[in-house]
Amino acid sequence: MIVIKTREEIELMRESALIVSKTLGELAKAIKPGVTTLQLDKIAEEFIRDHGAIPGFLGLYDFPNTLCMSPNTQVVHGIPNAVPLTDGDIISIDCGALKNGFYGDHAYTFPVGEIAPETEKLLQVTKESLYVGIREFKTNNRVGDVGYAIQKYCEDHGYGVVRELVGHGLGKKMHEDPEMPNYGKRGRGKKFVEGMVVAIEPMINMGTHRIKQHRDGWTITTLDDKPSAHFEHDVAIIDGKPELLSTFAYIYDALGIESDEENEFRKEGLVL
Ligand code: MG
Ligand code: MG
Repeated sequence: MIVIKTREEIELMRESALIVSKTLGELAKAIKPGVTTLQLDKIAEEFIRDHGAIPGFLGLYDFPNTLCMSPNTQVVHGIPNAVPLTDGDIISIDCGALKNGFYGDHAYTFPVGEIAPETEKLLQVTKESLYVGIREFKTNNRVGDVGYAIQKYCEDHGYGVVRELVGHGLGKKMHEDPEMPNYGKRGRGKKFVEGMVVAIEPMINMGTHRIKQHRDGWTITTLDDKPSAHFEHDVAIIDGKPELLSTFAYIYDALGIESDEENEFRKEGLVL
């Protein structure tokens, strides 16, 4: 069942999403060779609690930490540990926060120091595909329109689109209907309506789309051990159009880079 949100509820959800956005911005300042994912996890937990929210993943389905930290060949759901990040790594950080009864949930894949040009390309294309998908999230379109757009964009670049893990509706529960696959057929699936809120989150592999699950019950890596990237935004349909509730602006500020896709959205009035 899809739970439609009122304008007031969407504003509360924006608050939750922005706590996650700011947390990712804090982490962006701390990511460098030598730091461990456990250290980053601690920074995130403190930041979220200091902002009057609760870490959204901690304890969810018994997940042991605040952040899902998935370096290099890990796709998602990696568990923070004491292994230092090294120059040339990439690290996908997925973060959730619960405030006022609503969840925020988004993710960014960060480069650590200097990364290989082909890995840089994977990050860029995956991030672009997120916005390509978001543009299809509007009234009268369907779930398959978003999935098709993301899949086509990434496969045209020769990348693999993970099938087993998908985006989702978001609200008082971290995972609500509908499921939002990053693949699909145009015009298929549930129809989008005013007041829907979803997390769109392409998980894109440099090589094969196939993955393997590890014995810890959480960690998922690419089957061919090539890198994987993951970006996620929370998006609402307001006045028929997609509106970002989360933003990467705090990350861009911390890293000193210009926001690209989000600026385009703002020009079109899609981000308030
Ligand atoms: Mg997430
Ligand atoms: Mg999610």
